[in-house]
Amino acid sequence: MLKMRLLYHPAFLEHTPPFPHPERPRRMLIALEALRGACFSVLDSEFPPARVEDLHRVHLPAYVEGILDKISSGISVLDADTYLSRGTAKAALYAAGAALKAAELAGSGEPAFAVVRPPGHHAGRGGRAMGARTQGFCIFNNSALAAARLLELGLKRVAVIDFDAHHGNGTMEIFYSDPRVLIIDFHEDPVTLYPGTGFPSDVGEGEGEGYKVNVVLPPGSGDDVYELAIEELANPILDSFKPEAVVFSAGFDAYAGDGLAHLRAGAYTFANFGSLHRFHGVRRAAAILEGGYEEGLSKGLPAFASSLAGQGLTAAEKLHSAEAVRKLAREYIAELKLLLRRYWSI
Ligand SMILES: [Zn+2]
Repeated sequence: MLKMRLLYHPAFLEHTPPFPHPERPRRMLIALEALRGACFSVLDSEFPPARVEDLHRVHLPAYVEGILDKISSGISVLDADTYLSRGTAKAALYAAGAALKAAELAGSGEPAFAVVRPPGHHAGRGGRAMGARTQGFCIFNNSALAAARLLELGLKRVAVIDFDAHHGNGTMEIFYSDPRVLIIDFHEDPVTLYPGTGFPSDVGEGEGEGYKVNVVLPPGSGDDVYELAIEELANPILDSFKPEAVVFSAGFDAYAGDGLAHLRAGAYTFANFGSLHRFHGVRRAAAILEGGYEEGLSKGLPAFASSLAGQGLTAAEKLHSAEAVRKLAREYIAELKLLLRRYWSI
């Protein structure tokens, strides 16, 4: 039996699409079934929903009010990708509450995984972030809230590791000028995938310049490319930044064949991410679910969760990229290293 706090609430099933949509309640059932299969037996629903004022840590009050007004007036479409339903407010407030609770548990040294929906990493301070055309299924930014809560608890340096296939433009925007939050975001090339943001030159601004790292991966990138990017970029930067806590913005849509992206990560990569904080001697870790729709949830998520709970790396087979993809990825990584040498010894 594996032990780790898994924060889940039945309210997450009440955010329901008005038309067929990949971000649907069934995702939770796939995730819970996979966690049971990985020997996690206990779910924790004993946490309060976030209060409206809790959301002001990362969102403009007018944005939060606007969302709640739209829901209560029965509006079901926020933008071309993102829907609302009668249960959305409850689901989104409990998702934010789970993220806050995960941060508090992490702050006291207990790893926690908030298995939530709707996801959050595309939601910026006022909704759409960094010029994206939609909010990509996201309502409130759960991962940003977790990072903000850890800072509020007195931590000085928090690293957000976002390994969802899509760029976490909302989280990036929220902390863009904040040097206390290092973000390392692994995502598919913005030229080939929504939201079309997160280029290597987006390094943060003002005091936050250099603390935002966009690791762009070519379509077709497999476990070998992820491993190289972690070794060449994430490891030296994390060694130097010395985070006091890590928030995993944990999306599983980079899993090979998950459906919405073109990456080919396998269980090997997700297990690697689940132990990345320990590899750097960081005791505090919170994970917040982002995307992942089919096999990413059934196979990638349990590999990550088992690793986060402290189970050693499973003997997962490493998925290799095609030679041309590996070559392109090496070029991307070399270019990013060159660009980041202004800020880090890499
Ligand atoms: Zn995604």
